[in-house]
Amino acid sequence: MNDGLNLQGILDRTASDCRTMTGGGRQATYIPELAKTDTALFSLSAATLDGSVFSSGDSDSLFSMQSMSKVVALSFALEIFGHDYVFARVGMEPCSEPFNSIMKLEMTSSTPLNPFINSGSIVLAGMIEDRLGERAIDDLLKFASGMTGRRGGLKVNERVYMSESSTADRNRALAYFMHSVGTLPFGVEESLSLYFKLCSIDVRTDDLAVMGSTLANAGLNPVTEERMISIDTAYTVTGLMSVCGLYDESGEFAVKVGVPAKSGVSGGIVCAAPGRMGLAVFSPPLDKGGNSVAGVKALSRLSRELKLRGM
Ligand code: GLU
Repeated sequence: MNDGLNLQGILDRTASDCRTMTGGGRQATYIPELAKTDTALFSLSAATLDGSVFSSGDSDSLFSMQSMSKVVALSFALEIFGHDYVFARVGMEPCSEPFNSIMKLEMTSSTPLNPFINSGSIVLAGMIEDRLGERAIDDLLKFASGMTGRRGGLKVNERVYMSESSTADRNRALAYFMHSVGTLPFGVEESLSLYFKLCSIDVRTDDLAVMGSTLANAGLNPVTEERMISIDTAYTVTGLMSVCGLYDESGEFAVKVGVPAKSGVSGGIVCAAPGRMGLAVFSPPLDKGGNSVAGVKALSRLSRELKLRGM
């Protein structure tokens, strides 16, 4: 399924060329624990649909999922609640404001524009917590572990969770605002706590590449051969990754890379190239939009070299 490509060689070359291409980037510091990250780290992984996984660079590095966990929350919510219930509470349109913007919410007093901005994911966390209560995080970790095929299971990084939870004025403002207008009809602190835990799940790029390959393989994890989500859920999630996965730089990413993806402020990006492979990159320095500078460069190269757009 990797078309006879020397994928390991391609990843090694891309990692070695791109790891220092972080010019102008700065790591996220608004979550104090993220400010401690070693900005020189770079890791790249690919997982093909025959179940092979390749990695290059600092591939043992663990980092928190941050907004990439919004892919997990959406996939899980669609599986347990169904499309209509989820999309009655969050929209499916791109957003031209930053991921934590309160402006659009206030102007419309309506549902969050999509599940990949903070307000949307907080609503999803709220509905999951409301349904599953204390079981919610364990069920989500089990699900995320299944999507990534991680043996032994993924875990919440408690230091990141505490750091995030204690400095989350903006997310609290979003959640309390939504509660006040009725678009977050769940316990506010419970919704936020689950949202922060999701953002704090530790992963490596090989975990994310396998998660990408599960989406690219229409919901069947090609490594474990376990069906994790329905074909419809995979279509919905990758569709939204295409239009709103890279914050308000999703359009630029579509031009440069052209593959469904979701980034996070830890410096990771997970990609799902339908019918081809999952890819993931980690490099902490971010551009103004909150996306990994070297990560976008590496993915842009790989998209061309591997013809991931199908042409
Ligand atoms: N935990 C982060 C926040 O809520 C996630 C942001 C991101 O990765 O986009 O601010």
